[in-house]
Amino acid sequence: MNIRSLFYRHVAQTSPAPLAFEVVKAEGVWLYGPNGERILDLISGIAVSNTGHRHPAVMKAIYEQCDRYLHTLVYGEMILSPQVILAERISAHLPPGLDSVYFVNSGSEAVEGALKLAKKITGRKKILSMMHAYHGSTHGALSVTGDDSLKAGYGPFLPEIEHIRFNHFEDLARIDHQVAAVITEGIQGEAGVVMPDAGYLKALRARCTETGTLLILDEIQTGFGRTGTLFYLDQAGIVPDILTIAKGMGGGMPIGAFIASIDNMRVLTRDPVLGHITTFGGHPVSCAAALASLEVITGKGFMEDLQSKSEMLKTGLQALPVLEVKGTGMMYALRLRDFDAVQAVIQKCMRMGLLTDWFLFASDHVRIAPPLTITPFEIQFAVDVLAEALKD
Ligand code: PMP
Repeated sequence: MNIRSLFYRHVAQTSPAPLAFEVVKAEGVWLYGPNGERILDLISGIAVSNTGHRHPAVMKAIYEQCDRYLHTLVYGEMILSPQVILAERISAHLPPGLDSVYFVNSGSEAVEGALKLAKKITGRKKILSMMHAYHGSTHGALSVTGDDSLKAGYGPFLPEIEHIRFNHFEDLARIDHQVAAVITEGIQGEAGVVMPDAGYLKALRARCTETGTLLILDEIQTGFGRTGTLFYLDQAGIVPDILTIAKGMGGGMPIGAFIASIDNMRVLTRDPVLGHITTFGGHPVSCAAALASLEVITGKGFMEDLQSKSEMLKTGLQALPVLEVKGTGMMYALRLRDFDAVQAVIQKCMRMGLLTDWFLFASDHVRIAPPLTITPFEIQFAVDVLAEALKD
């Protein structure tokens, strides 16, 4: 059996028609196949490879950490410098009050930790989340995911979860003194890059403060430069009580975190002790990679460069024959006629060497989320291929 047949036979599948591009190497924005073919990665797998595939600084940090130590003991017991320095660096880039970092392995896990933390801090049980939000696939994270299409057959879900409509100011009245937390993305990713209306996130923040409800901001998709600033909260002008991050954090390595104030985070240490535990959370190699990736993104000129490339990409996308272009930074969605049109464009792009995708809850949208390191030349290539694929 060749590697392709073994993939279908032994690697658990999540769709009847996986992309099934065999990757033998990846570098920068390019994925390479076994026969020398290459495709430009316009989705960063997904919103992960913000510093590109195998960024030299990330690779160096990984190799160096591999030479020191890998896993030592369950999370939180040992002083591991890659964890400590990363936690300090991330805090330094966040507003005061977000200075205690709990490392986990994935976005879903970050959401699980955040939900538990909010209940424990407030002593309340009810959680509100947004319709069409995606927060992950584990039971708790799926419970707060706001679209039933992914849930069929997997219930029952967590009790006392309700969904309100994103961008509907009138729904904020449903946040009351019974609600432990509201969880939301700043920009709704899987709903097809839905931007917040002016003043919406600030009004949400104000209503949470008024009712003693904690605000959990899920920046798992929007974080680490994806929207043109290190975190989207910088643009939204709000400070959540708990922040969740993952995906683009690790420069291609698996890592996530939930972040709160040190006083709030302390509730995990008592009654019971070990209130949230993980074996592998904050793996030293992932932390070393994340630190290197963060230094690249926050390094001299990176964000300024990103700004001009983002404008170039947006202008290119806006000239395409699509119904709508949504998004900012390096996070866009192109709205087409329907699901079939999107599938046809994805297939055509693939044949011309460009990897795109659709969205979990917006199957009539094409996803555009390249590595932030994409060059102007590569942006032009991507826009030209999209134009060709959209011709008819
Ligand atoms: N929250 C958001 C906003 C996401 O986009 C995702 C992943 N698409 C998750 C949570 C879940 O992250 P993971 O797949 O790493 O569990």
